[in-house]
Amino acid sequence: MTALLRDLTARGLLSVPSPKRPSKPLGKNALYRVLTNPYYAGVIRYKGALHPGAHAPIVEPALFDQVQSLLKARNAHATRHVQHAHHLKGLLHCGTCGSRMLLDFATNPRGTTYAYFVCSGRAAKKTTCTRRAVPVQVAERLVESSYGNITISEAEYRHLAAEVDAAFDKRSAGRDQEFADLTANRARLEAESDKLLAAHFADAIDLATLKRHQDRIRAGLADVNRRLAEHSEHHTGGRAFLHDSLRLLTDAHRAYQYSGDADRRIANQAFYTRLDITDDEQLRPTLAEPFATIFREAHQGGDEGKEAKREHTTSFDVACSRKTLWVGAEGLEPPTPCL
Ligand SMILES: [Zn+2]
Repeated sequence: MTALLRDLTARGLLSVPSPKRPSKPLGKNALYRVLTNPYYAGVIRYKGALHPGAHAPIVEPALFDQVQSLLKARNAHATRHVQHAHHLKGLLHCGTCGSRMLLDFATNPRGTTYAYFVCSGRAAKKTTCTRRAVPVQVAERLVESSYGNITISEAEYRHLAAEVDAAFDKRSAGRDQEFADLTANRARLEAESDKLLAAHFADAIDLATLKRHQDRIRAGLADVNRRLAEHSEHHTGGRAFLHDSLRLLTDAHRAYQYSGDADRRIANQAFYTRLDITDDEQLRPTLAEPFATIFREAHQGGDEGKEAKREHTTSFDVACSRKTLWVGAEGLEPPTPCL
């Protein structure tokens, strides 16, 4: 539908203007109404029943029917797809043999269907695993309560945010010089460019020479600007990213409880790399970055010696090299590295 709409809009399909609304490109819903309206195939709908209209059809009835069955098939496919995309699918693993857990359904003699997660190793007889099936509700409850364990208090948030800042400040001592050098380099190149232009206008250098130098300066400036952008991304971006991640942790449990399936899926992918369910139905979650580092740092921050803590100040670098944000539906793709 999206591709078709794009094509039709490119060919100039617009809505009929009315006194209140000007003519504009159609939305997906409007296009769907056009495609499914039998009026275009010469039929009118009157009191719920279809009658041949007096007007000439602009679409062959056979073609119209073909479009209807195509749309129906697409919808059925979409529905099937949604039903099987449980928000825990892909993340749950069998705590006994490590295989992925798959969604399965069982129907009792009275016709009620129950959904379970089953060990794919056991189901395919790939392993000797004897893992029992886990009812979907049990798995959902375990994951939901796991958010209680990773939620941090306002005081913990302030403490961790201060640690992040300290780690970045320490690192930036060396980086400030690099930033100053790059900025000075840029100013020098720009000044040189101005001088060359002035020299050319004063007939001191010919056009070919000017062009040659300008090309060199342009390449130099592009390089400096790229490195400055990297510098700021790594620096400001990384710090802001960690602060945002910490912020998410202060509200994680409540936010998860009030989220729909689609957001839960995104959250699970953002916070965890995998979730193992043990045979006694305990959840062993593996945190995704930067959360894994945040918690490691938080636990080391306590009693251990200050030297040991120092050595870990750069692990926040590793943490922010994987950017995953708990944002709208576009976050459905698997998390990708930021560099
Ligand atoms: Zn198993």
